[in-house]
Amino acid sequence: MSHIRQLISLTSRGLAGLVCPPECVWCHRPIGDGFLCASCLERFQKNYYCCQKCATPLPAVVRNEDCFRCRDMKWKFQRTIALGPYRGQLREAVILMKKSGAETLRNALGRLLGKQLRDLVNSRTTAEPRHVPDPILVPVPNHWTHGLSRAANTAGSIAAAVASETGYPVADRAIRRIRKTSKQGMLAWTERAKNVRHAFQISNAKLLIERHVILVDDVLTSGATVGELARVLHRVGISSLDVAVVARGTGSRESSPATARPDHAG
Ligand SMILES: [Zn+2]
Ligand SMILES: [Zn+2]
Repeated sequence: MSHIRQLISLTSRGLAGLVCPPECVWCHRPIGDGFLCASCLERFQKNYYCCQKCATPLPAVVRNEDCFRCRDMKWKFQRTIALGPYRGQLREAVILMKKSGAETLRNALGRLLGKQLRDLVNSRTTAEPRHVPDPILVPVPNHWTHGLSRAANTAGSIAAAVASETGYPVADRAIRRIRKTSKQGMLAWTERAKNVRHAFQISNAKLLIERHVILVDDVLTSGATVGELARVLHRVGISSLDVAVVARGTGSRESSPATARPDHAG
């Protein structure tokens, strides 16, 4: 009986493959397995030299671990992991990821990010096996009214994909956005910190205490949103904090509302 069941399962998978062969989620070329073809994998996986702290791209000749921006920003996180700078096809992918129908793209890029994050956490565990707290993923929360729109919960979906790849738990209700904020991309950098000040509240501190928290979002640009979340998270006694984003926005600090792109996150 089990053989018959197995045969039916294999046949239906085979038929599904003939009708709709697996394809790359980005360029739609047929592929054997996975989510991205070899050239899209090459395109999207991290392959750029960057600041260890904030993931800003740096010329490969610069051997500093941090960039000029990090020297006067007192970030409350240790590291930022990003697949690449927010430009070219990665930028196009991030814009598309915000659409509700783009779940497979969010999943593919979230898994790539998860692989990179796991490598970082594993390298720390190897270096200091006794002192690495358990990681937990926290997607940057939306205000509850976001759920009424047709826009996707981008950070939540990326965190779910990172979790599938790493096995780290997701604390998606540990923090709430308690007031509606203007879109960070519509504001000048100088206004972004004020926009998100006191916008978040911890709703389940127990989940976070003494954990290594990894904040997950689609883009990091000015750092105002993660900066405010970091402030709130450290007050409840987390152990350490990293940031994982699909892309690192590299807009000018002097961006005015007229020049800032509305698709930029904070
Ligand atoms: Zn492809
Ligand atoms: Zn930096």
